[in-house]
Formats: sequence, C-alpha cells, structure tokens
Amino acid sequence: MYFCTIMKRIIPILVMAILASCGPKPDKIIALSFDDGPSNVTADILDILKKEKVKASFFVVGSWGGDNTQDMVRAYREGHAIENHSWSHQYMARLSAEQMADEIERNADWIESFIGERPEFFRPPYINVSPLLHETVGLTFINGINCEDWEPGVDAATRTQRILDQAKDGDVILMHDMADNVQTVEAIKTLIPALKKLGFELVTVPELFKRKGITPQPHNGIVYSNALQTR
Ligand SMILES: [Zn+2]
Repeated sequence: MYFCTIMKRIIPILVMAILASCGPKPDKIIALSFDDGPSNVTADILDILKKEKVKASFFVVGSWGGDNTQDMVRAYREGHAIENHSWSHQYMARLSAEQMADEIERNADWIESFIGERPEFFRPPYINVSPLLHETVGLTFINGINCEDWEPGVDAATRTQRILDQAKDGDVILMHDMADNVQTVEAIKTLIPALKKLGFELVTVPELFKRKGITPQPHNGIVYSNALQTR
C-alpha cells in the first residue's frame, strides 16, 4: 500500500522528466574556424575534425596556398566551409578600393577554381577594417573569439582554456591553420570534446548564421564575432 502511494507520486514526476528531456532543446551552437591555411597542419586538423564528427570553416589565403589545394578540396568534401581571408593578407584598410576588390576577387577566383563555389564570408587580415572596406567588399565580415594561437609562447592547454573561458552560444572561434602551428592541433584535441561536454554543437560559419536565422548582410559595417551581434 505504502509502495503504491510512493509510486503514484513518483510516476508523474518521472513521466514529466522524460517528456522534458525529449522536448526541443535550446540551440547552443558555435563555429570553429581556422585562418591562414592551407598549411602543413591542415591535414592533422581535418583528421581531428573527422574523428570528432564536427564541421569547421577555413579562411584561406590564395597567394600562400598556391597549388597546394588538395587539403582544401578534402575539407570541402568533408563538409567544412572554405571562406575568404584575402589573396595576400595585407592591412586592407591601407589599400585603394580597386586594390581591395582585387584582393577579394582574386582569392574568390582561386577558391572557385578548386571547389566550384565563391565564399560568402570574409575575415579581414589583422581585423584591419575601414568604412571603405565595408563599402567595397560584398561579403559578410567575420572576427571571432581568439586565444592568441599565433603566439608560440601560448601553449596548447592555455589555448584551450582561453577559448572555453569565453565560449558562448552564437560565437565564432578564431584559430590558425598556419605553418607548424602544432600547439593549435594539440589544443583542438581537448577543446572540441570540452565544448561538446558543455553542450555546444560545432558547425560551419554559414550554418551558424542559418541556424540563428541571420541572413548574411554585406555592407552593414558589422564584423561579427557572434552571429547575433547587431553592431
Ligand atoms: Zn590571417
């Protein structure tokens, strides 16, 4: 009798708990991205992304990549996004409008030559921007939260921790696919599982905007570190 009374109380609570766990969960989405590739660590990064079954974005530099496009073709085939980081990685705000356009179009031509698509997103080198750059470049500008992973003195564990300390829903994470950057390769081995454990889904930058219901808007003067940013 006592058992039945207890069960009568417990069962509705259990049912509610099960229903709640099956219901729609609020999205917690983040976009991992890598600048300056392709490089000699691109394949290692791709191997980790594949093992972890997550998607990322590569903001690439054509004059550095040249004919070394096989890893970017692989990245595209494996579902990652290839985006524009300019042709020759200059302080673009110092250029003329014509030079700015050339940096973007030349790089987009290069990307199109191996994936058949032109990028929608642009990360300005050194996040060096100007009103003229926003006016001239018809792409959505992206920055991101970073961990200074271009500094050899910042070790892998610190890189991971710095990102985890900042990460929130809608963020873009900015890291570097640059020559010999093995500490970032090491960092993402722990960063990705840790983000997953915190409930984040890792998606590409285009997917992040799509999932947040944000239509990419060139010429709006925003340099997005988070898809939900409004200025
Ligand atoms: Zn860069």
